[in-house]
Amino acid sequence: SANAKVLLVTGGAGFIGANFVLQAVADGLRVINLDKLTYAGNLDTLEPLAGNERHIFVQGDIGERALIDQLLAEHRPDAIVNFAAESHVDRSIDGPAAFVHTNVVGTLGLLESARDYWRALEGQSRDGFRFLHVSTDEVYGTLGAEGKFTETTPYAPNSPYSASKAASDHLVRAFHHTYGLPTLTTNCSNNYGPYQFPEKLIPLVIQKALAGESLPVYGDGLNIRDWLFVGDHCSAIRRVLDAGRVGETYNVGGNAERTNITVVKTICALLDARSPLAVGRPRESLITYVKDRPGHDRRYAIDASKLERELGWRPSQTFETGIEQTVNWYLSNQPWVQRVLDGSYRMERLGA
Ligand code: NAD
Repeated sequence: SANAKVLLVTGGAGFIGANFVLQAVADGLRVINLDKLTYAGNLDTLEPLAGNERHIFVQGDIGERALIDQLLAEHRPDAIVNFAAESHVDRSIDGPAAFVHTNVVGTLGLLESARDYWRALEGQSRDGFRFLHVSTDEVYGTLGAEGKFTETTPYAPNSPYSASKAASDHLVRAFHHTYGLPTLTTNCSNNYGPYQFPEKLIPLVIQKALAGESLPVYGDGLNIRDWLFVGDHCSAIRRVLDAGRVGETYNVGGNAERTNITVVKTICALLDARSPLAVGRPRESLITYVKDRPGHDRRYAIDASKLERELGWRPSQTFETGIEQTVNWYLSNQPWVQRVLDGSYRMERLGA
């Protein structure tokens, strides 16, 4: 809605959700932040909001209808932004069930609660209500050397992760068409930036390269991802929330296709310039090719021209400026990373 004042954000202790919440609260919005605090949820990231009355954190599952109904009744949000998901492809290969539990069944529960809440709204609050579902370009499958994903590219998910996200996107679409729920869906390319869990490529490589450890690269290193700085993803979501056409989907991307090997070499060069390894050994020499991920998609590329044309959104970072900021952030925030690596970030959820 044009002046969304209160948001129910799910998954707001994760990488993108937390970046979004920090930004939204700084901009004056009130955020009810519902997160289950799986291994990927990290309350350390939300530390800057301690004591801020515009942020309320609630631990819980998006599929818990009674809890969601109660939060909606109590806080009367103008919009729901659904980030909550199991998000790591490699984990989905080892254990797909959790992905179906949260991404499919959980999203269905959230949609049912949202539908019932929206139906009981009246007048402007009913017209202005939005359910924004955050999704991925991986639902479109893989590309050859040419072409880009558009909003009309047929869904062809290849991993259990992307299959579960595709299913959730379809449920969101169905809730719009069947019940009239005012939904919006965004399908974004790979994100990177501050507060990303160090199992993902970019923070993993930064940490290992810093420590002088070998840098694992899947297959021949020539898989291509289209990278977007997380702050730009968040600004796109805000833009779609404010001005997107109900029932539509918007692709989000920064025109920044890079092979994995280029990403790794870029990080190595940035770190070599800032804190060289002993005897000036270049970090590139740490690269080790490892057995490819099963079913590894070769290339993703996003055509974000609908979002640019209709809503005037533009990314603020290129890959080069964004990756430099990210490397600098990890260098200046080693305590945040160390608490993830040694597991102490999980203590808070246990009340310790
Ligand atoms: P993340 O794994 O860092 O965070 C996910 C958060 O959701 C965690 O805080 C976790 O505790 C929470 N969560 C998990 N299951 C839950 C449940 N059942 N109920 C409530 N909370 C639950 O993921 P991310 O990288 O921040 O991704 C956020 C969203 O954006 C996901 O929906 C993902 O599919 C999508 N997305 C991610 C990328 C990317 O590159 N990371 C790109 C496009 C889209």
